[in-house]
Amino acid sequence: MSERRPSWRARVGAMVLALFAGACDRSQQPPPQPPAAVTPPSSVPVADSRIRVAVTVDDLPSHGDLPPGATRLQLHERMLSVFAEHGVQAYGFINGARAADGADQTASLAAWAAAGQPLGNHTFSHPRMAEIGLQAYLGEIDRNADVLRPLVPDERVWRVFRYPYLFEGTDAATTKAVREHLAAERYRIAEVTIDFFDWAYNGPFARCSALHDDAAIAALRDHYVRHAVAMLRWSDATARGIWGRPVSHILLLHVGGFGAEMIDPLLDAYERENVEWITLDDAMADPIYADVPVADGITQGTLLDLMIDVRKAPHPPVHVQPERLLASICAAPGADTRPKP
Ligand SMILES: [Zn+2]
Repeated sequence: MSERRPSWRARVGAMVLALFAGACDRSQQPPPQPPAAVTPPSSVPVADSRIRVAVTVDDLPSHGDLPPGATRLQLHERMLSVFAEHGVQAYGFINGARAADGADQTASLAAWAAAGQPLGNHTFSHPRMAEIGLQAYLGEIDRNADVLRPLVPDERVWRVFRYPYLFEGTDAATTKAVREHLAAERYRIAEVTIDFFDWAYNGPFARCSALHDDAAIAALRDHYVRHAVAMLRWSDATARGIWGRPVSHILLLHVGGFGAEMIDPLLDAYERENVEWITLDDAMADPIYADVPVADGITQGTLLDLMIDVRKAPHPPVHVQPERLLASICAAPGADTRPKP
C-alpha cells in the first residue's frame, strides 16, 4: 500500500482534526450531503438525483487470494452473469503477464470476450513505475498491447488505459511523459472517481472462509456494502461540489474472490442509491476527464483525489479506507496480512 495515496497521511490528519472538532465522518455514520451552497447550472434539473456510473474491473485475469476450492474462471463467470442480469457494461483491464499463468487464466479472459464485455490495457505485469523507471513503464504499456490485439478486434476498444495503483507519475515530467506516450499510441485514459478499496476484502474473505468463520464473513459482507455506498455518496457529493453539476462517474472494481461473491448485492445497493449504469465511453465523454491535474511530485489517486490534493478543491470530510481494519480480520497473530492492491 505504501505507493498508493501519497496524501493518505494528510487525509488521516484531517480526519483526526475533524474528530476532535466533532465532525468526523465515518462509514458507519450517515454520509455527507452535498454542500447546500452548490447551485447546479440552469441546464441541469435541480432535482437530478440520479448518479451516472460506469463500471470498470481491473487486474484481469487474476487478483488476490482465491477462496478454498474456487477457480478464477468461476469468479469471472459469476461476475459476468451478474453484470448481464443488471444490464451493466463492465470494462475489464488486463495484465497480459497474468494471462499466461495457466488455462484457468486463459479461459477467464476468453469468458469476458465471449460475454461481449470490452477489454483495455492495465500494463503487462502491473509494475510500480517508481521501481522500474519511465522507459520500462512505457514498454509495459506497449507489451500489453500485443496481448490485447488478438483478443479484441476493435482497436478503439482496447486502446483505453488504466494506471496500476492509479499511479500516474513520480513527478510532473514523468506524468506528462506517460500521458504523451498514451496520446501518441492513441489511448484514451480511464480515470476513476469512485474507489472503495474493494480489493482489500479478498484476503480476509479467503482467510475467514478457510476458518469457516461465518460470523466474520457476515460482518465482511455488511461492511463491504455499507462502505461501498458511503464512498458512492461521498464521491457524488464531492463531484457535485467541485463541478457544480452531476458528473459521469467511473467506478473501480477488481476481479477477486469476495468481489465475485458481492457483485450482486453491490449492484443492488447502488441501484437503490439511484445509480444509472452507463458505458465507459459515455462516462469518458464528460469534460471533467479532459482536465486531469498534474502534481509537482507524485500524481496518484482518483480524479477527485487529484482535484483535492493538487487543485485544493473543497470537499466533504473524507472517509477512511478500511485496509488496516481488514488486515486484522481472521488473521493469525504475527502473520503478514496487509492487503495487496
Ligand atoms: Zn490494478
